[in-house]
Amino acid sequence: MPRALNDHLRRALAERLRYYRELGIYDFYRRDFNRREPDASASNGIESLSAEVPDQVLTSPSQPELREEMTARKSAVVATVAEENIFDVLTPKPEQGVADPKAALKVIREDLGDCTRCKLHQQGRKQIVFGVGNPRAELMFVGEGPGADEDAQGEPFVGRAGQLLNNMIKAMGLRREEVYIANVVKCRPPGNRTPERDECETCSPFLMRQIAVIKPKVLVALGAVAAKNLLAFNAPMAELRGRFYDFMPAGARSSDPSWQGVRLAVTYHPAFLLRDPRQKGEAWKDLQMVMKYLGLKPPKSNT
Ligand code: SF4
Repeated sequence: MPRALNDHLRRALAERLRYYRELGIYDFYRRDFNRREPDASASNGIESLSAEVPDQVLTSPSQPELREEMTARKSAVVATVAEENIFDVLTPKPEQGVADPKAALKVIREDLGDCTRCKLHQQGRKQIVFGVGNPRAELMFVGEGPGADEDAQGEPFVGRAGQLLNNMIKAMGLRREEVYIANVVKCRPPGNRTPERDECETCSPFLMRQIAVIKPKVLVALGAVAAKNLLAFNAPMAELRGRFYDFMPAGARSSDPSWQGVRLAVTYHPAFLLRDPRQKGEAWKDLQMVMKYLGLKPPKSNT
């Protein structure tokens, strides 16, 4: 049940936020997953590009494609820069002196190492799925976490949902190699369950550092889990979609002081679109908004 902040608490929070901003800390998150997807339907702009994706519907409720429409969740995800971690946040990251984004990403990957920071390391992961794509991408996609195919191959979005994401990227007039793709958590949650709050809090700082290095113009959150882990408030997908947000990665500083952050858009997870193809039209609207901002034109031919 939503609770209103009283005026005293609101003022205190605003003061604390100002104080942290003066210290160079920009983003504080409070997220909640207690919402259900709307039943919107629309004309389908990416349908024609996804013909090769099988229409088979995955049936396990543990699959991420079902999560977009799952009933209310009790768990809230709050990814906050906790006060006890404030000095960690202020500590310069090893990649900050590295100008080349490819090299800087390598530094972050080395810093991640054979990560055991959260319990996902001992829950059956085969490997860490760091991220893939152009280190200088103008467009970056962020999903929830690796699935079985991604865990096996060590690359995000390589299964059926990945095929559809490729088609979405192609529909935007881009190639997969031109964008960057990552997830909120880098290890596969067992049974493809939703990553838990502590797992997201532990892993997402590495995602923030990746974003700060790549400095994309637009970040697209794929699905509710990614959106609510990136944004600082809770809302249903119907409200999250259809607009841009100004986003600065929490606790991560870019090596470029002139970088003012990224525009963040929210759309459906491709796995959800496989589950409910009627929503592809809505997703296409989201992508068109991004294309307009980036000055992209759809290809003349889909072949
Ligand atoms: S999910 Fe992230 S924080 Fe957790 S073990 Fe994997 S790489 Fe480390």
